[in-house]
Amino acid sequence: MAKFTGGCLCGAVRYEVSGEPTRIVNCHCDDCRKVTGSAFATNLFFKDSDITVTQGTPKVFQHTSDAGSTMTKEFCGNCGSQLFGSGSRGVGMKSIKAGSMDDPSGVVPALDIYISRKLPGVVLSDDTEHHEEMRPQ
Ligand SMILES: [Zn+2]
Ligand SMILES: [Zn+2]
Repeated sequence: MAKFTGGCLCGAVRYEVSGEPTRIVNCHCDDCRKVTGSAFATNLFFKDSDITVTQGTPKVFQHTSDAGSTMTKEFCGNCGSQLFGSGSRGVGMKSIKAGSMDDPSGVVPALDIYISRKLPGVVLSDDTEHHEEMRPQ
């Protein structure tokens, strides 16, 4: 996964990533469910300097998490696809939504977090660490 590309559904926003993810996380929290419109989000975390937007400009939305930090979501203002997330507690880090990658076939999550909120039909892998809420620091 040394270098890869991705973008939104309509193609207006494109990005390129070089570097290895520091972690790959399935998040079952309420915010990830809302923002993806799906059962959970698969997020790959990178240093934000590893990510380059090569076309277009993502639209930005900010909200406050229940832990009190400011969360930033970046998405295509035309088609609405979610691309990146970041939080005031993770300065210098940015997450990429796995579904925005052109080829997500190499994505192997290591963690499932906020499993206390997961939907009943979602079956967790035996190969991931499971945490009821956030991963303990
Ligand atoms: Zn788009
Ligand atoms: Zn989440």
